[in-house]
Amino acid sequence: MAVSRGDNPMRTNPLLRSWTVLTLAAFAIAQAATPAAAPQPLLAHQQLARDIYRELIEINTVTATGDTAQAADAMAARLRAGGLPEADVQVFKPAPKKGNLVARLHGTGARKPILLMAHLDVVDARREDWSFDPFTLTEKDGYFYGRGTTDDKAMAAAFVATLIRCQQEGYQPDRDIILVLETDEEASSPGGPYGMPWLLQNQRKLLDAEYALNEGGGLGLKNGRPWEMDFQTSEKVYQSYWLEVRNPGGHSSLPTKDNAIYRLAAGLGRLAAFDFPVHLNETTRAYFERAVALEEGQMALDMKAVSQERPDPSAIARLSAIPIYNAQLRTTCVATRLEAGHADNALPQTARALVNCRILPGETPEEVRQTIIRVLADDQISVTAPRNAAPSPASPVNGELLAAVEKLTQEFWPGTPVIPTMVTGATDGRYLRNTGIPTYGVDGLGTDLFDVRAHGRDERMPVKSFYEGIEFSYRLVKALSGGR
Ligand SMILES: [Zn+2]
Repeated sequence: MAVSRGDNPMRTNPLLRSWTVLTLAAFAIAQAATPAAAPQPLLAHQQLARDIYRELIEINTVTATGDTAQAADAMAARLRAGGLPEADVQVFKPAPKKGNLVARLHGTGARKPILLMAHLDVVDARREDWSFDPFTLTEKDGYFYGRGTTDDKAMAAAFVATLIRCQQEGYQPDRDIILVLETDEEASSPGGPYGMPWLLQNQRKLLDAEYALNEGGGLGLKNGRPWEMDFQTSEKVYQSYWLEVRNPGGHSSLPTKDNAIYRLAAGLGRLAAFDFPVHLNETTRAYFERAVALEEGQMALDMKAVSQERPDPSAIARLSAIPIYNAQLRTTCVATRLEAGHADNALPQTARALVNCRILPGETPEEVRQTIIRVLADDQISVTAPRNAAPSPASPVNGELLAAVEKLTQEFWPGTPVIPTMVTGATDGRYLRNTGIPTYGVDGLGTDLFDVRAHGRDERMPVKSFYEGIEFSYRLVKALSGGR
């Protein structure tokens, strides 16, 4: 089901407007560099969070070959050791080596629960590609290195540590706090995915919440300094298509002009030259409006121009040359795989390319398929979707959550603007959004906006960011659940 652009709540939300003014006022405050803190012994709750983090990193949870059930069991043991009752910590194992944890800190029930989610699985990492063992937590030069240090085990550790800290304080929230640690976020498994979609199908009641906090947003750093707090309300939809040409083939000593590889290559050339039209939605418009204050010179002028009703084409062209801004402006499609032919001495009978698209909320996979067909302009190139993507409607801005994030951000990193964002990658938040649980990407685990290593080699998290992030999670959860 497609989501119309009119569904975006930011269009009419008055709270967002007043928030804009507050946010812009905050820009005026010069951002002072945070002085390097002298090393201090860790507090007990910091040490516990670090131990949890290390345990998670050191359990190999690569989606295809690792063991998320072991990680879910380990976190269940941590929560029980931290005082959560046996019955409030459950591990579900839908398949061998596949585990999901659902835990609950009980509140008074005055308000509907909130849900904290993170994923346990990680993308593969090969020792020979890395400077360190990816499955050992290595602390070096102010960073924690290891697969999952940013995606998404810091968040998982922060949430587990937060629940234990609240439990040990005897904190009674005014609403239940549900923790979900899921598997199969990075990739699906045969017969799966066994993470959030499985939980929603089999344990929907356990997950019922007013809204969820997830990965996909959070504090961005530039040269190590706090730069922006991304408040993620929406994300692009991940959709792939196979482009395929079939041909009778024949002996390669008798070539014909009608060749499957040449046809496909010519079509791909036309697709490469094509840009999808610019569509700003309310989130991306607000993003460029606020990001202006973080930029200078031509970049600031271009961002200002692009958020206007009739944007200057040359400003669009300059921003489009920068991948992170281009991806905010439009749906993108790119060829990522190519396969053709069956023998060195035969004319190819098939040629196929996989094109991976990231579709703006409000556009449908079928519309994009029709656009690709039109651009290829060759009725011998078939375009099919291997599977239909789940839509991911934008979540309405939640005033209470936004106010809490704004307040904490100013306390932790004064002057850092809170910026609404649409992410170009997909998270499992889309499954919750689809079942009517609004989901927001926000956290205090600062990572460098221009040195993204998630899924790549030598993934790392600044040590300072980790400790600030766990404190931010704890304070945010308390702020959202009654406070003392
Ligand atoms: Zn992730």
